[in-house]
Amino acid sequence: MELYEFGVGQLAEAFEKGIASPSEALSSVLERIAGLEGEVRAFLLTDEEGARKAAAKADGLWLAARKGGTKPSALTGMPFVLKDNICTKGTRTSCGSRMLENFVPPYDATVAVKLAGSVLLGKSNMDEFAMGSSTENSAFGPTKNPWDTRAVPGGSSGGSAACVSAGFAPFALGSDTGGSIRQPASLCGVVGLKPTYGRVSRYGLVAFGSSLDQIGPFARSVEDAAMVFEAIAGHDPKDSTSSPRPVPDVRKACSKGVKGMRIGLPKEYFANGLDPEVRDLVMKAVLRLKDEGAEIVEVSLPSSMYGLAAYYLAATAEASSNLARFDGIRYGLRDLGAKDVVSAMKRTRSQGFGDEVKRRIMLGTYVLSAGYYEAYYNKALKVRRVLKDEFDEAFAKCDAIAGPTTPEVAFRFGERTEHPLSMYMSDIYTITANLIGIPAISVPCGLSKGLPVGLQLAARAFDEETLFAAAAEVERGSGFAGRIGGGAR
Ligand code: GLN
Repeated sequence: MELYEFGVGQLAEAFEKGIASPSEALSSVLERIAGLEGEVRAFLLTDEEGARKAAAKADGLWLAARKGGTKPSALTGMPFVLKDNICTKGTRTSCGSRMLENFVPPYDATVAVKLAGSVLLGKSNMDEFAMGSSTENSAFGPTKNPWDTRAVPGGSSGGSAACVSAGFAPFALGSDTGGSIRQPASLCGVVGLKPTYGRVSRYGLVAFGSSLDQIGPFARSVEDAAMVFEAIAGHDPKDSTSSPRPVPDVRKACSKGVKGMRIGLPKEYFANGLDPEVRDLVMKAVLRLKDEGAEIVEVSLPSSMYGLAAYYLAATAEASSNLARFDGIRYGLRDLGAKDVVSAMKRTRSQGFGDEVKRRIMLGTYVLSAGYYEAYYNKALKVRRVLKDEFDEAFAKCDAIAGPTTPEVAFRFGERTEHPLSMYMSDIYTITANLIGIPAISVPCGLSKGLPVGLQLAARAFDEETLFAAAAEVERGSGFAGRIGGGAR
């Protein structure tokens, strides 16, 4: 087994015992990246020199620990990747957009600070400003799915998912506003977690939909994702939406099993539009949970069909407001040919934003405008409230809700770009967790036509423990832990 195939837990153990050093692990992933990145194109930026320095420093820390010094935290020296909407001091953060093509943040995001002892390999590709489900909206070209390069990796955190899937890094961070961690995780056959709203600091995350955005990990096993979650979660005074609740020991939860756990299956999730093979694989995984002692109960979420509409009202409204700061004056791109301030703004925004971002800004401005606010934006808020009530009712009958992460496996490039609505449908199962702030995880449960299928689990707010316990059981049943995209490649 090569070092690039090691997961987070395996590498931490190897570093601790002196079986391998962070610099050796780094060399292995860099070689892997050199061999495959030309094809996969998961990165927008790589920083080999910075990574080598960080690894050398970590080598010293692990060595000192073996000589009786203090033991560094588990992720010390671990190679990783950040989505390119997470600010890194002194390192370009582009959000996949021409608007920020040359933007170098003057500060680090809190998650970057928390992972300061790990080895940052680079910044990953994404749909522009995290708007999309395939990375095809990146201004710098799409990322390919490591399982089949004719297929999309999902999005918007497609670069992060592809990095972990291809063996470029044992873990990566992404952001999830409506499914952008879980959907690409599902399509690339890796684990992806959207934590509870407020669980992970968003300080330094470029805002898209502020009432929905969360940062979370990608990894090749549930336990690896648990280790990363524990490292990045927790209260941050710099983010007023961050929660002071203590972070649970989710790594321990991974070995808890599901005996006595009640798993809810929403009948609405298994209806029209779901690929039959995806449905079968998800159902098989659920039945294995039953064999392990879980109780399967049917629940109903009748308003989930309105989730997509509510999301595209709320998310675009917030985006139109958040993206107003890119005005050609304060950040990023500036059109120098303009004669006055208004035309400078117009020209900068016309050039700097791609089509999907413009579509969202227009939609969001429209739904917030006088006369339409009540009809659209306010309605969306009411739907969010109804959804919350329905989930509360469901969680009175069960501890976790299971279903598919996406209706289909990875689709081909170009298949959905002409029809925004068909692209939006990719997130039909994921968006409700953002609308009501609960945690949800995607875990691989098998292959359909050679492409990975993800099972999604959702739990009550701040109950990541249940999520990890159930997800780890799904993983034990599927035997998918540690798989690299495409297997034999
Ligand atoms: N695909 C969804 C969208 O385009 C979700 C994006 C996200 O979670 N950042 O808005």
